[in-house]
Amino acid sequence: MATEQFGFQAEISQLLDLIINTFYSNKEIFLREIISNASDALDKIRYAALTDPSQLDTEKELYIRLTPNKENKTLSIRDTGIGMTKADLVNNLGTIAKSGTKAFMEAMSAGADVSCIGQFGVGFYSAYLVADRVQVITKHNDDEQYIWESAAGGTFTITHDTVNPPLGRGTEILLYLKEDQLEYLEEKRIKDIVKKHSEFISYPIQLAVTKEVEKEVEDDEEAKEDEAKIEEVDDEDKKKTKTVKEKVVENEELNKTKPLWTRNPAEITQEEYNAFYKSLTNDWEDPLAVKHFSVEGQLEFKAILFIPKRAPFDLFETKKKRNNIKLYVRRVFIMDDCEDIIPEYLNFVKGIVDSEDLPLNISRETLQQNKILKVIRKNLVKKCMDLFSEIAEDKDNFAKFYEAFAKNLKLGIHEDSQNRSKLAEFLRFYSTKSGEEMTSFKDYITRMPEVQKSIYYLTGESLAATRDSPFLEVLKKKGFEVLLLVDPIDEYAVTQLKEFEGKKLVCVSKEGLELEETEEEKKEREEEAKQFDDLCKSIKEALGDKVEKVVVSNRIVDSPCVLVTGQFGWSSNMERIMKAQALRDASMSSYMASKKTLELNPHNPIIRELKTKVAADKNDKTVRDLTYLLYETALLTSGFVLDEPTHFAKRIHRMISLGLDVDEEEAPAAVPEAKEEEKPEAEATSASAMEDID
Ligand code: ADP
Ligand code: MG
Repeated sequence: MATEQFGFQAEISQLLDLIINTFYSNKEIFLREIISNASDALDKIRYAALTDPSQLDTEKELYIRLTPNKENKTLSIRDTGIGMTKADLVNNLGTIAKSGTKAFMEAMSAGADVSCIGQFGVGFYSAYLVADRVQVITKHNDDEQYIWESAAGGTFTITHDTVNPPLGRGTEILLYLKEDQLEYLEEKRIKDIVKKHSEFISYPIQLAVTKEVEKEVEDDEEAKEDEAKIEEVDDEDKKKTKTVKEKVVENEELNKTKPLWTRNPAEITQEEYNAFYKSLTNDWEDPLAVKHFSVEGQLEFKAILFIPKRAPFDLFETKKKRNNIKLYVRRVFIMDDCEDIIPEYLNFVKGIVDSEDLPLNISRETLQQNKILKVIRKNLVKKCMDLFSEIAEDKDNFAKFYEAFAKNLKLGIHEDSQNRSKLAEFLRFYSTKSGEEMTSFKDYITRMPEVQKSIYYLTGESLAATRDSPFLEVLKKKGFEVLLLVDPIDEYAVTQLKEFEGKKLVCVSKEGLELEETEEEKKEREEEAKQFDDLCKSIKEALGDKVEKVVVSNRIVDSPCVLVTGQFGWSSNMERIMKAQALRDASMSSYMASKKTLELNPHNPIIRELKTKVAADKNDKTVRDLTYLLYETALLTSGFVLDEPTHFAKRIHRMISLGLDVDEEEAPAAVPEAKEEEKPEAEATSASAMEDID
């Protein structure tokens, strides 16, 4: 049978080079990876057999067997799992790119340990840490037996196997060990590694151990003599046999512990949980927290849930199938990608669930509708909330947790209306009073002055951009704390949340900000507003459609003006985020885009001066023209993006020219009559120049 040659996909080729050529001391993890693949393959055949028991006919016993061979310097890892068809071999072992390949290499160059390879979905290639040549002999029920072989170097071959003994079903990984890696042929070493990394694999892992046994054999020499001395037979009976040493191979089971979740939590050590977690998830670090519980009553199940220390590299890669909670039914593995067992926002929680009530042969489709599963799901979510609360008791742990999974909690607020208020307790934000630390809604409330009724927040691009925002002026003056929401997802979460413990969440850059004020303050403000009616009107006229309305503000103290948005539309921050999403439908933006209201500060000298000018002459050009500059500056300070930055720049350049007394002839767009006017009317010069570009 001809041998076919294939080229490795380019990144996989690079990965192999990296694995072969870089120095790592922690090579033993290759065995964990190969065993974990064997266990996955066994899971798959067991699952297939639930609906079609004849699948097991090709090989009834489910096991993993390690066979070291010192003469050939090979280590064989054989499983009776599902095996691979020829197409599987081509696709899974070398030609199809995986997102994890590149991500793993990046992680390595950033200093990650090689032992994290399994998390990136390329664990198989760790075989090349210890072997310079690898064969994969495999038999799937739907195909013939094949040999995949590669010594790296960019290519692999596939051959129809007519030389090896038939496997029946399953896969044998045959590692031709490098000269300096022969320690992996030692029984003791193999036993230690399996104990350390693969103790909780739920199939027997056998080690083929060679033992010398003493055996009595007939002694030929004496037998001949016997014939001669027939009469002596009775006395000399013992002498007719002798003991020789003989080598026999026995399969010794290395992982005899019963499933961890079936044991009593009080008798399980933290180390055991950690080891179980690592074998379950391929993680190389201990988990941050664990919860082991059982539910009894109208429905029974046991579960262990883990929170990892870090987010995986592809946490929000939507195409990827999740396999975080393994579902067992009465100790039989059913599936590890059941989507309905836990809501999507909790996709970082790992663990196992073992149900007493679900039918063994449940299909993916019926599982979706299954009432038992719904109850399990509800319980898991509740236990997750408990687990988060426990983590929150330790500040450092919670900080780690929050850094890794804040996005998930915020998504949860968006998706899970039932647990929304519970999840809100875990949110942390920077604020105008929190300094370097983050604060919770609960702590915020304890700091609220008595008159303050609502929780105030401002969304923006960064802390730097929000900390000095004009929107904070009056709130700072009143001593009201404002939460600074600088994660793009914050606004989605907070608009869903709407309130916390009965206190409204109010965005300080939106219309209708009703600040708690005394009767006098209110009266004073309304009086003032009346005096600015004319100015508001002329500014609105000048700006036209650019703003919805122009009003007197109650939220600014120093700045001349700000642009606020409608209560139910996008904030400036949201507008910026939406504009940045390249693939969005453009029609949406005109529909949702913020309707802007220009708010004027009646105490600001610039605004006061403008007011005087309008009072003197309604048609004063200066007012109209300076208005543009004020408007554009307000766009910037209010967190919007300039539509026409060059126009804005031109206006500013003219101001600069004026400031520097630059010769007007050198200023290309200068208007001739500007020369007639002297310094005091400088504004007018720039203003009339500005007209040209509007
Ligand atoms: P992962 O296990 O994360 O998918 P690996 O690089 O460890 O990534 O394995 C690649 C693929 O090769 C597996 O997904 C599986 O399809 C296939 N594979 C590896 N080992 C076996 C095996 N013993 N039996 C069947 N398929 C296997
Ligand atoms: Mg794997």
